[in-house]
Amino acid sequence: MKVQCVICHVHDTLEDDSSLAKKLRNRPIHTYMCPKCYERIRVNTEKRKQNENFHLFHDHRKRVDF
Ligand SMILES: [Zn+2]
Repeated sequence: MKVQCVICHVHDTLEDDSSLAKKLRNRPIHTYMCPKCYERIRVNTEKRKQNENFHLFHDHRKRVDF
């Protein structure tokens, strides 16, 4: 099964019976992300979550001080 990374457009081939290929088969092919981009997105999402948590915590502290 041929796939293309939606982020960097690198072409890749998946084993037809791999679990990822089975998942993608029921979805548009452009949902594929290569491992490099997947990892980058995952790290960015983690960072953003941490920032959001920090801001929530910060707002809460301000409210408590008032
Ligand atoms: Zn990629």
